[in-house]
Amino acid sequence: MDLQVVEQAARLDGWLAEGGVVILSGAGLSTDSGIPDYRGPSGSARRGTPMTYQTFTSDPIARRRYWARSHLGWRTIGGARPNDGHLSVARWQRLGLLSGVITQNVDGLHQAAGAREVVELHGNLARIVCLDCGELTARDELVARLTAANPEFTAVASSINPDGDAELDDAELDGFTVVPCRSCDGVLKPDVVYFGETVPADRVTTAFAQVEAARTLLILGSSLTVMSGRRFVLRAVKEGIRVAIVNRGVTRGEPYADLVIDAPLGVVLPNLAADTDKYRFIAG
Ligand SMILES: [Zn+2]
Repeated sequence: MDLQVVEQAARLDGWLAEGGVVILSGAGLSTDSGIPDYRGPSGSARRGTPMTYQTFTSDPIARRRYWARSHLGWRTIGGARPNDGHLSVARWQRLGLLSGVITQNVDGLHQAAGAREVVELHGNLARIVCLDCGELTARDELVARLTAANPEFTAVASSINPDGDAELDDAELDGFTVVPCRSCDGVLKPDVVYFGETVPADRVTTAFAQVEAARTLLILGSSLTVMSGRRFVLRAVKEGIRVAIVNRGVTRGEPYADLVIDAPLGVVLPNLAADTDKYRFIAG
């Protein structure tokens, strides 16, 4: 770490030591786990347009192609392991330094690292929801059904997006067989918030309440490009709550932040709250 980053990290370390920190994480936290961030500087620009809720629900051909791509993409997302950033957040939570973990990611890696009570603003790709009866089922179960229904499907994705949507030629997609809900024959969808869909109100309410009660809002790996994340920063500023950002590259939160650390998360985060003796009184 260069000297400026060392000094900035020391400041953030002091804020962590005070406790009451709420984490808001984005795609940049998961890039070290092999999940690309299509908005950040480390990721390639996203190819193709993301699936919208309107297209998914109204166009059966688009839906078939989506499921074929998502079935492939899951091999990357489902096999990803938490990195040092996720492990750091889980460690801070165990030390009693955090009062909330909110994420824009749909990869479940905070929980895989041991974090508890994570507010998943955009849902989780490991869950499947039936749009007709609302039943929630495990992704693994659907993977088995899709694999059995598509014994000839051996396509290889040319690239993968963080929303689990792989890039693939349409010709390869159209032979894919989609399976319906086991309970009602309805349409299945990953339990994630698509473009054009709003985040469920109860999650937003919980997240705002956590931010308002925080001593520090710490943004990890988000460029805050979309309002879905930026609104929490704006709320924190309005409430006079300290905002810190650790992100690789420029973020749109910079004008509002008390501290911005532009450095790799995998270098900065493991060094924070590393002196556990110092925090023992908080953790009890
Ligand atoms: Zn159903």
